[in-house]
Amino acid sequence: MLDIREVSAGALLTIDLDAVRANYRLLRERLGGGAACAGVVKADAYGLGASRVAPALVAEGCRHFFVAHLDEAITLRPHIPADAELFVLHGVNPGVDSDCVAHGITPVLNSLEQIDAWTSLARSLNRTLAAVVQVDTGMSRLGLSPREMAMLAGDRSRLYGVDIRFVMSHLACAERQDHPMNAEQLERFEIARELFPGVPGCFANSSGIFLGREYHFDLVRPGAALYGVVPVVGAANPMRPVVRLQARVIQVREVEGGTRVGYGASWVAPGRCRIATVSAGYADGLIRSLGNRGAAWRGGTKLPIAGVVSMDTITLDVTDLGDRPLEPGALVDLIGEHNPVDVVAEAAGTIGYEILTSLGGRYHRHYIGG
Ligand SMILES: *Cc1c(COP(=O)(O)O)cnc(C)c1O
Repeated sequence: MLDIREVSAGALLTIDLDAVRANYRLLRERLGGGAACAGVVKADAYGLGASRVAPALVAEGCRHFFVAHLDEAITLRPHIPADAELFVLHGVNPGVDSDCVAHGITPVLNSLEQIDAWTSLARSLNRTLAAVVQVDTGMSRLGLSPREMAMLAGDRSRLYGVDIRFVMSHLACAERQDHPMNAEQLERFEIARELFPGVPGCFANSSGIFLGREYHFDLVRPGAALYGVVPVVGAANPMRPVVRLQARVIQVREVEGGTRVGYGASWVAPGRCRIATVSAGYADGLIRSLGNRGAAWRGGTKLPIAGVVSMDTITLDVTDLGDRPLEPGALVDLIGEHNPVDVVAEAAGTIGYEILTSLGGRYHRHYIGG
């Protein structure tokens, strides 16, 4: 059963689909009575493989999926049941709206232009077309302004032929529970919803779920928390880790004090040290800001990154392993029990989302569970 890629690849990425499922269950248990839980699987399920992640969510009863681009939706459609609803956050672009209909994909309409294009398609097909209407409640990224929403509500003919599945909005600061924007956006969302009585609401992302039941409405849209990223800044992470990244040691060397390591000679050995060169670099998503800041682990021993991250390699100070030196071919954890995604992200000066979506294409990917 030995897969040749498992030894020929420089690094192994293990994705635990049972953990994704457990995370979905944990989020759903937090919801108030009526709310359903969607799965956000944009950017290939945050780099983890939407064609594997989505069916695992389906097995937990998930029937609503969100991606960003129409392209992603068309690729995903065969991997989820026909009765599952698939939403495209960016809406439709002119010229491809009929592809949306042909594949049974529902756009999130973000502007009056997108609404007009969708209604004119409905008219020309002489049928009703489903859509989500997004209102911007303070993020200023996508969606109709509250004023445009009011205008739309006052002129329902503008929505002729559209079955509004949800009124939707997106939180800007939900991971900070004490941020005043949360309540401001909630209030604006409630006002927008009152304009469309009876239409279900869709508001919370992962972090929004943890703001409390008044943020849940009828459908929540978690992404990151499903993949193990911490949903609340400064709190313990209730989510199960999903990703383990192990890279292989290529070579180990002893260096004298004063020896320089890596491009730019930015790391200098403080004394006699052992340096291991490991087979993953920034081309694999170990973003360059991890240089001289991040660490790998071997068992319970922390192995700091010595020097900058190269394209295909990093160098580790493995001196602390003492009389348990690494052999070429040994694996070290770049993401794992001791260095979960959020810890790696913090060392790199970014967020877990960017670490996950940066994970490269050269890894041997191994799925467990599901
Ligand atoms: C990405 C995204 C989500 C998922 O957000 P998470 O923070 O990953 O849970 C939900 N809604 C919208 C509009 C998004 O762009």
